[in-house]
Amino acid sequence: MKKVVILGCTGSIGTTAIQAIRDKKMEVSVVGLSAHSNEKALFSLARELSCTSVCLTARKGHAQSDITVFDDLSDMLSNLEADIVLNGIAGFAGLEASLLSIQQGFDLALANKESIVCGGSYLFDLARHHDSKIIAVDSEHSALAELVKGRPPHEIGALILTGSGGPFRTLPKERFSQITVEQALAHPTWKMGKKISVDSATLANKALEVIEASYLFGLPADKIEVVIHPQSVVHSMIRTVDGALYAQMGIPDMTLPIVNALIDDGKNLVAPLDFSNLSLTFEKPDYERFPLLALAFSILKRRGSAALAFNAADEVAVHTFLDRKCTYPQMIRAIEKTLEKPWDSAPSSFEETLALDSEARKLTRSYV
Ligand code: NDP
Ligand code: MG
Repeated sequence: MKKVVILGCTGSIGTTAIQAIRDKKMEVSVVGLSAHSNEKALFSLARELSCTSVCLTARKGHAQSDITVFDDLSDMLSNLEADIVLNGIAGFAGLEASLLSIQQGFDLALANKESIVCGGSYLFDLARHHDSKIIAVDSEHSALAELVKGRPPHEIGALILTGSGGPFRTLPKERFSQITVEQALAHPTWKMGKKISVDSATLANKALEVIEASYLFGLPADKIEVVIHPQSVVHSMIRTVDGALYAQMGIPDMTLPIVNALIDDGKNLVAPLDFSNLSLTFEKPDYERFPLLALAFSILKRRGSAALAFNAADEVAVHTFLDRKCTYPQMIRAIEKTLEKPWDSAPSSFEETLALDSEARKLTRSYV
């Protein structure tokens, strides 16, 4: 049985993974768990899963007689024997967790797209060096990985990421200044954590995913496209150079990409699609109303540290918006203004990434 560590076990990705274990959709042995501050849920999940090593990352956890409580992830991971780590941590903090997992030689089922966006310039080399496999959990990238399987790179004409368009897909721009936090959190098809839900409303999530896809599949900006597909049934597509289009479809449920990243023989992970009442629509993204998506393509062309500056700016701006301290348009503008700096030096280490990240955060804070 595979030995699995679940980081961010109290979040949306973590709980979906654990529900899949409860539902017997995967048989794994959970050897380590982490949460940031939700200590009660962390201990309760550990006991339910008979897991004896946990880490609370925000503060020191209370000692337990039956569970070893680590204060930092590095200690926990270096004391564990594991096959694979599911990284479901939200935000930039997930990058260090990914690096630590790779350094232990564990495979990495990576939901934390920030790891790739911010550390993409060295993460994959490090993984090769430690013989660690990186498997994308993001539904679009999980679909793309299936679609490109067995095809030589020269046959891939384009990766086509689908996106629901979020709750403001049809909202006129004049009304963006009245958008509330509650409206931004109400994602039409996926139930996710708060940060990624706001990112889905601004299309910053799709922007991060475009960058993620470029690193994961080694393809430039002009081979990546985005199509808006409100029903989220087509998880992504590829176009081969002969012009044919291939899609992965299914009901929107993260169980499939999470379980497929962790085990090789998943069966009946999601309910079959009901074709009797299925109507699928596609449209072009509106780059004028959702400028962060357009920014992703220019970031890919710039390279340097623009991607990590974008992520930092987005985290700061989104949390300011969630705290109701700025409006939706102010959130977008602060990100755009942060990216006006050149951000031309690509980080080659985690330390350089940290320094650039805090520089970008400081700048964004001055704009919101
Ligand atoms: P949630 O906010 O629901 O959960 C985040 C988890 O990470 C919680 O367990 C939380 O612990 C922990 N956490 C929060 N901050 C930190 C920190 N600074 N250091 C360590 N741990 C921390 O997020 P999601 O599950 O929605 O998203 C997780 C990641 O997966 C993100 O990168 C997201 O982009 C990606 N993703 C998510 C999808 C989804 O369907 N939700 C789909 C595709 C990708 P605590 O509960 O104690 O605060
Ligand atoms: Mg996604």
